[in-house]
Amino acid sequence: MIKFKTEEQIAILAEGGKILSKVLAEVIRNAKPGTTTGELNALAEKLIKGYGGVPSFKGYKAAWAEHVYPAALCVSVNDEVVHGIPDDSRVLEEGDIVGFDCGLKYKGLYTDMAISVGIGKVSPEVKKLLKVTKEALMAGIKKIKPGRKLSDIAKAIDAVVVRNGFSGVKQLCGHGVGFAAHEDPQVPNQWPSPGVRDVVLEDGMVLALEPMVNIGDWPVETLDDGWTIVTADGSLSAHFEHTIAVTKDGYKILTQ
Ligand code: MG
Ligand code: MG
Repeated sequence: MIKFKTEEQIAILAEGGKILSKVLAEVIRNAKPGTTTGELNALAEKLIKGYGGVPSFKGYKAAWAEHVYPAALCVSVNDEVVHGIPDDSRVLEEGDIVGFDCGLKYKGLYTDMAISVGIGKVSPEVKKLLKVTKEALMAGIKKIKPGRKLSDIAKAIDAVVVRNGFSGVKQLCGHGVGFAAHEDPQVPNQWPSPGVRDVVLEDGMVLALEPMVNIGDWPVETLDDGWTIVTADGSLSAHFEHTIAVTKDGYKILTQ
């Protein structure tokens, strides 16, 4: 069931979203060749707590997962698509592409955001992947308006991905967010999307849009840690995400 948010609740989500975007900006400033993913996770957790928030991914139990997620931040390097578990022995290297995904609970309400970046000097291919994935997210966001449908968002996202010769991951999608880290509806990145129902957008919905784009083919696999999702063909992957409120006349990005 989709749970609608009041204007007051959306205002709190915007406060939380602003904090979350500051946390990720600071994480990215510190993501350099030689930094470990574990250090960046510790930084994110410290910053979130300093702002009076709670890291909502830490201890999160997904319906499909055997273990709770152990960290505040997901750090997904190169062929890792999402849910990479930070580790003090995992060192970032020049040329890596890294996705940072973080969830925050603030004044009882949840926001979710992801940004991918290159570490040091990256290849033109990585630059293109980053640009296209971000563009795909923005194309989806621009469709948001009462009366439009989730399928309009999905088609706009996928059009950008396909036009640029990349593949959008099909097994994972965006979601409602706000009262919990993940809520109804599922927000697909392609249409048709088997098993996902189309929904007409209404004022007061809060959605997390999050295209995951691979340079190679779309299939993904889960590693033995039970969380880390990687591309099946080993190709590089990028991920961008915003939490967005549907408003009377369009949308408001809450995580910026
Ligand atoms: Mg996320
Ligand atoms: Mg999400």
